[in-house]
Amino acid sequence: MLDAAARWPLGVAGAAANRNIVNAPAIATGDALIIVDPQNDFLPGGTLAVAEGNRIFAPINALAPRFPRVYATRDWHPRDHAYFQAQGGPWPYHCIANTPGAEFSALLERAHVDVVISKGTERETDGYSGFAGTDLAQRLQHDGVRRLFVCGLATDYCVKATALEGVAHGFEVYVLVDAIAAVNLAPGDEEAALEAMRRGGARLIVSAHLR
Ligand SMILES: [Zn+2]
Repeated sequence: MLDAAARWPLGVAGAAANRNIVNAPAIATGDALIIVDPQNDFLPGGTLAVAEGNRIFAPINALAPRFPRVYATRDWHPRDHAYFQAQGGPWPYHCIANTPGAEFSALLERAHVDVVISKGTERETDGYSGFAGTDLAQRLQHDGVRRLFVCGLATDYCVKATALEGVAHGFEVYVLVDAIAAVNLAPGDEEAALEAMRRGGARLIVSAHLR
């Protein structure tokens, strides 16, 4: 019924995700595009690069002007962040506040972004979710947002955490499977993340199907 997976290559998870794609709604008042962490350090050449990260920008730049509100989150870490390997955490240095690696990619058409949300700004907070330790929920409610359309980086961490916490906050959440990309530290992480989001109440859609 829906287009072939070749239209939106999704790495190892493509085939499985294709079975779980639902029809996309029409974009309406009360909808917000949530662009998760489109930052240099998560892209090829960055310190924590997602191999296929650059693929998110074509669909995101095409979609952003069509949404009433566009929010972008960013990792904005202190240098002594507890989640860096230097402090015994899992990650290499990335997205340290006010460094080039933390800047939004030049591939993102920045003019379409209405609100920037910084996260992971405290030493002890991982900052995976755009809601964690931020005022994102309040901003969305204040702006009259009811449905979130989540895209960006990375599928298996911040996209997943943001989508699931969006559901927990009572929003209707859609994940744009052609506008996300995964770290895949372990094989299968991407597929597991998509399944976790779907089971958690988020709906998987393809951006080209948005009317
Ligand atoms: Zn981080």
